[in-house]
Amino acid sequence: MLNQRNGSSRIGVIGGGLGGLAAACTLAARGHDVVLFEKNEWLGGKAAVLEEDGFRFDMGPTILTVPRVLRRIFSEADRRLEDELDLVRLDPQWRCYFEDGGVLDLNEDVDLMGRTIEKFTGDPKQGEGYRKFLELSEHLHRVSDKFFFWKSVEGIRDTLDMSNSFNLQTLKEVASLRMGRSVAGVIRKHVPDHRVSQMLDHFTQYVGSSPYNSPAVLCSIAHMQTEGGVWYPIGGTRAVPEALAKLAGELGVEFRTGTGVTRILLDDNERVRGLVTDRGEEIELGAVVSNMDAVRTYHELVGGKAAKRFGRETAEPACSGVVLYLGLNKRYDHLQHHNFVFSKDPEEEFDWIYQRGEPAPDPTAYVAAPSFSEPGVAPPGGEALYVLVHTPYLRPHHNWAETLPAYRKTIIDKLARVAGMEDIEDRIVYESALTPQGIHDRYRVLNGAIYGLASHGKFMGAFKPGNRSRQVEGLYLAGGAAHPGPGMPMVMMSGWIAGDTLDRDGIVERVRTPSLSERHEMATVVP
Ligand SMILES: Cc1cc2nc3c(=O)[nH]c(=O)nc-3n(C[C@H](O)[C@H](O)[C@H](O)COP(=O)(O)OP(=O)(O)OC[C@H]3O[C@@H](n4cnc5c(N)ncnc54)[C@H](O)[C@@H]3O)c2cc1C
Repeated sequence: MLNQRNGSSRIGVIGGGLGGLAAACTLAARGHDVVLFEKNEWLGGKAAVLEEDGFRFDMGPTILTVPRVLRRIFSEADRRLEDELDLVRLDPQWRCYFEDGGVLDLNEDVDLMGRTIEKFTGDPKQGEGYRKFLELSEHLHRVSDKFFFWKSVEGIRDTLDMSNSFNLQTLKEVASLRMGRSVAGVIRKHVPDHRVSQMLDHFTQYVGSSPYNSPAVLCSIAHMQTEGGVWYPIGGTRAVPEALAKLAGELGVEFRTGTGVTRILLDDNERVRGLVTDRGEEIELGAVVSNMDAVRTYHELVGGKAAKRFGRETAEPACSGVVLYLGLNKRYDHLQHHNFVFSKDPEEEFDWIYQRGEPAPDPTAYVAAPSFSEPGVAPPGGEALYVLVHTPYLRPHHNWAETLPAYRKTIIDKLARVAGMEDIEDRIVYESALTPQGIHDRYRVLNGAIYGLASHGKFMGAFKPGNRSRQVEGLYLAGGAAHPGPGMPMVMMSGWIAGDTLDRDGIVERVRTPSLSERHEMATVVP
C-alpha cells in the first residue's frame, strides 16, 4: 500500500531504467518521498541480464563511459563510486577488424594512438590528423559541458543565459560548435583514411544515429571516451542498475515493479496531480518524472491539449538492433573485451539503416567478449559472446520472426570471415536473440528504438525534449528520449537533471533532511 499520508508531497517516477533510477536516487538523497513504478518485474530497463546454462550475458548496454556521472549521483548521498562498484578500466578500448584483414586497436592515449595510426596507414598526416581531431573533440566536449550538460535544455535559447552570460566569448564558443556540419564530414577532413574514419564514425553509434546526418558537436564523444575511459563493472553492466537500485532502496524509495502506468492525471490548470496504474489505482502525487519514452509519455499518458502542444508525433526514432547471445565452448583469445567488425562501406551501411530503413546486407557487428575481464561469465574455457548489429527502427512491414534466421547467418558469416572466428557456428552451445520487436515490447520504446530519438539534423540534431516539461507543470522527463540523450552516462545525467530541476523548482516539499547539507553539496557534487 502506498503511504497516502504524504499525499501530494510524493513524487512518482514512471520507469525503472537507468534514467528513472538516477532520478529516484537524486530526489531521495535530496530528502524527497519517491515511489517508482516499473512495468517489468526487474529494475534497470534495457540494462537487463540473461543467465542460462552457466552463461551470463548483459542484454543491453555493455560499454560504460563517463563514470563521473555515476560518481555525481552517488555523491548526492555522500557515497563514493569506488565503494559501490568494482570498475575495471579497459585499454585498448576497442579492437577493430576490417574487411581487408587490417586490425586496429583504439587506445585512450592520444599520442600513442596517433603513432599507431601513422603505422597502420603508413601516412604521418593521418596520425597528426587524429591528434587535431581529438583537440577539436576536447574543445567541443568543454563547450558542451558549459552550455549543454547538467541542466534542462530543449533548444539553443536554453543553453545561453541571454541576460547574464551572453557576450562575445559566448558567441565565439557557439560559433565553434561547427553547426551545419556533420560528424562524418569533420572526421574525414581530419583523418581521410577510410578505415580510421570508419572507426571514428562509430562514436555516433552510441546515440544510434548516422554520422552523415549528426551534428558535428557529437565529435565530442571521442574526447569524452579517451579522457574518462571505458570501464567494465565486475558483475557486468547489470551491476550499475543494481547499485543504483540498492542506493535508492537505502534512501527510502518505494519500488512498485510489475506495475505499469497508464495515465498521468492533470488538474484543471494542467498541472500534474497523480497517475493511474494498470491495476486501476489512482495515486495522488505532487510531481512525476517519466522515464518512459518522451513522445509516448505525452501521447499515451498525458494526451489532450498538452500532447498536441508537445507535438513531435513524427519525431524520428534512433536505430534499433539485433543482439545474439552466444554461449560458446571456446574463448577466442585474439578478441579484446570490446570489438567492432566493420562493414565494407560505411556510407552504404548507414544508408540502408537510416535512409532506406532496411537491415544492411553487409553490417558492422559489435562483439563483446566479457570473459576477457571476468572469466566467470561462462563455464571454464567458454565465452558469453554478445553480438550487436544496428538495424533500422521498426517499420510496419518489418517481420523479425521471419527476417531473423537469414540475418543471423549474415552476422555469423561476417564474424567467421572477418574476425577470425572460423569455427564459431560449431562452438555455440547456447543461443538466444533479441530483435527490434523484442526491444519494442520489453522496454515500451518508440518503434523499437534502442537510443530514444535520432540525433539527426546538422544544426539542431543534438537537442531533445527538455527535462522540465514546457507543457505540463509538475512533469519532468528522464531517459534516452530526453535531454541530453541516450547511452548509459547520458540517461543517468538526464535522471540527475530531472531530479535536480524538480528539487530546485521547489514545487514539492522535502519530507526528510537531504543527505548532504547545501554547503557540502556544492563542494562535493560539482563535476
Ligand atoms: C542492445 C543494446 C545495447 C546498448 N549498448 C549500449 C552501450 O554499450 N553503451 C551505452 O552507453 N548504452 C548502450 N545502450 C543504450 C542504453 O542501454 C540506453 O540508452 C539506456 O539504458 C536507456 O535507459 P533509459 O532509462 O532511458 O530507458 P530504459 O532502459 O528503456 O528504461 C525505461 C523503463 O521504463 C519502463 N516503462 C516504460 N513505460 C512504462 C510505463 N508506462 N509504466 C511503467 N514502466 C514503464 C520500461 O519497462 C523500462 O524498464 C544499449 C541499448 C541496447 C538495447
